[in-house]
Amino acid sequence: MNIEYLLNYLLHMPIWALWLLFLVENLLITCSILLIGRFFHKDTPTSAEWTMCIITNILNTVITYAGFWMWKHHIIHITTVWSWQVLPDFLLLFIGMDLLMFLFHLTIHKTFLYKAVHQLHHAYTDPSPIDLFVLHPVETIGFGALWLLLLVVYPFNFYAVMIYLTVNVIFGLAGHLGVEPLPVQVRNLPIVRYLGTSTFHHQHHQDINYNFGFYTSIWDRLFKTYK
Ligand SMILES: [Zn+2]
Ligand SMILES: [Zn+2]
Repeated sequence: MNIEYLLNYLLHMPIWALWLLFLVENLLITCSILLIGRFFHKDTPTSAEWTMCIITNILNTVITYAGFWMWKHHIIHITTVWSWQVLPDFLLLFIGMDLLMFLFHLTIHKTFLYKAVHQLHHAYTDPSPIDLFVLHPVETIGFGALWLLLLVVYPFNFYAVMIYLTVNVIFGLAGHLGVEPLPVQVRNLPIVRYLGTSTFHHQHHQDINYNFGFYTSIWDRLFKTYK
């Protein structure tokens, strides 16, 4: 299906149908993460974890709708041509969001926000996949606002955005998998050694003074918080 046609179709959908579509999309992503995660981590989530997971899904639906609304009102611009531009746009999203989220995460840890907001996510020193969604509403909205901010300042390519969102889900799942699926030889490969592996984020849950990055360890290496 042509992307222009698909986006145009969304513009003409009733608002209630868009909200429903974005909610279903977010729930499907969450279900995929939980289903894949079950292969690695057999723990049954608690009712508190389920509650926070549902709240995070509702807030992510609000953020998705906000992004759509901003695109509809020409605050966010998206290019739709499949070209070489997809690669640099993806890398810009990957590195840009990694830096913004690193700074946000570090700020949360080093201020009153840790106790007020982020302690909830750190209740789990051995996290399981659902804990990716166990976030305080302030964090979910904060990450969403950073995402929308990046989309406002630069007209990213549609395919780069889709690839980035998929990669974001893979890294989020990896960080809360509870086990390390990559053998040490793979983790020591030239580019892979700078990526945020399962071990990398698991270490952050074990010791909250290190590894504030998400997709890469480059910001932690620069800020001397790498372990
Ligand atoms: Zn975590
Ligand atoms: Zn943290």
